[in-house]
Amino acid sequence: MRKIMAVNAGSSSLKFQLLEMPNEKVITEGIVERIGLKDAYYTIKVNGSKEKEVLPILDHAEAVKKVLNDLIARQIVKDLKEISGVGHRIVQGGWYFQDSAIVDDDVLTKIEELCDLAPLHNPAHLVGIRAFQKVLPGVPNVVVFDTAFHQTMKDDTYMYALPYEWYTKYKIRKYGAHGTSHKYVAYLAAAMLDKPLEETKIVTCHLGNGASIAAVKGGKCVDTSMGLTPLEGIPMGTRSGNIDPTVLEYMSKKEGYSLEELLVILNRKSGYLGVSGVSNDSRDLEARVDTDERCRLALEIQYKRIADYIGSYYILMEGIDAIVFTAGIGENSSRCREKVLNKLKVLGVEVDREANKARGEVAEITTKDSKIRAFLIPTNEELMIARDVVRLTEGK
Ligand code: AMP
Repeated sequence: MRKIMAVNAGSSSLKFQLLEMPNEKVITEGIVERIGLKDAYYTIKVNGSKEKEVLPILDHAEAVKKVLNDLIARQIVKDLKEISGVGHRIVQGGWYFQDSAIVDDDVLTKIEELCDLAPLHNPAHLVGIRAFQKVLPGVPNVVVFDTAFHQTMKDDTYMYALPYEWYTKYKIRKYGAHGTSHKYVAYLAAAMLDKPLEETKIVTCHLGNGASIAAVKGGKCVDTSMGLTPLEGIPMGTRSGNIDPTVLEYMSKKEGYSLEELLVILNRKSGYLGVSGVSNDSRDLEARVDTDERCRLALEIQYKRIADYIGSYYILMEGIDAIVFTAGIGENSSRCREKVLNKLKVLGVEVDREANKARGEVAEITTKDSKIRAFLIPTNEELMIARDVVRLTEGK
């Protein structure tokens, strides 16, 4: 039995989950927030309830020390040597990584080189890796990329119709995101179908605060809605998704915005929040659909765009066996699932309204007669990370 730490480091936060492998049991999980401040938050789940502490944590190495010392203090682990591998979620693996990798100098250099493409995320991931290397010397670190699963897209799918030199010189292309989640739920769905993996055609809808859709044929990603960055695709909590780029020039002329300001608006002030003017959280919007026209509209725009993607993936894959809903909205909002699936009636989709009341657990949400099956499958990126740590470090 091995204890594996799955880590998701952000610029001022560090989320962790300690798993027992290979039996895939979560031992504990928690988060350090507001790293860099004298009143940082440390939260850990003990026996199902959250315990929170406010304390100074000035950098990521201190955050890692705090987590590990607390695991010892609480006797969750007796000796740090029990932790035999650490897996890190990395947002951008660019063109370098088709699979997860064991961290060495070359891997670190490549992640560093890709910081330009993920300026908010990759630098934070590097800090997280270095913190674990310092505090747990000799323990292998494995990196698991959000982009890796999408590397099987064909060139006619990942290329933009832009000057070709932008690609050769600057690697401007689609990379996608949420790959670990899409892969996890696609494989689970494939196992629920009565055919070999190579013949399966699945659309996965990862609908959280960030949201993306993927077409997975024979277990391989053939298209996804996010692009060079997570701004492309469907509208999200605060992101616009696809727009006509000319809007930027027009609004810069009308309101004098700089390019940086416009990108902040597209990334943080659009989507649900921008249209509704109320919130980036679908729960707030759903609570107001009958009384606030803009809340209704914000949701409807997103549902339509989701259905548009599914329709185009139906053509791309020459059919769909199953549609999967996952992440915060996909796992919890029966309204979203029903509204999207109802737009696909022309493809023979029939929602089972009773089954669709499910939340946060695996469920089949279409009727027996439905021509395409739909599933709710909770995602589990931490488990995928821990599995990859085991796969890549076993026997080393
Ligand atoms: P995630 O990014 O996967 O953590 O998803 C977060 C989002 O899930 C939140 O912003 C909410 O919009 C959505 N969400 C969570 N719970 C519910 C719920 N019960 N009903 C509708 N949306 C929900």
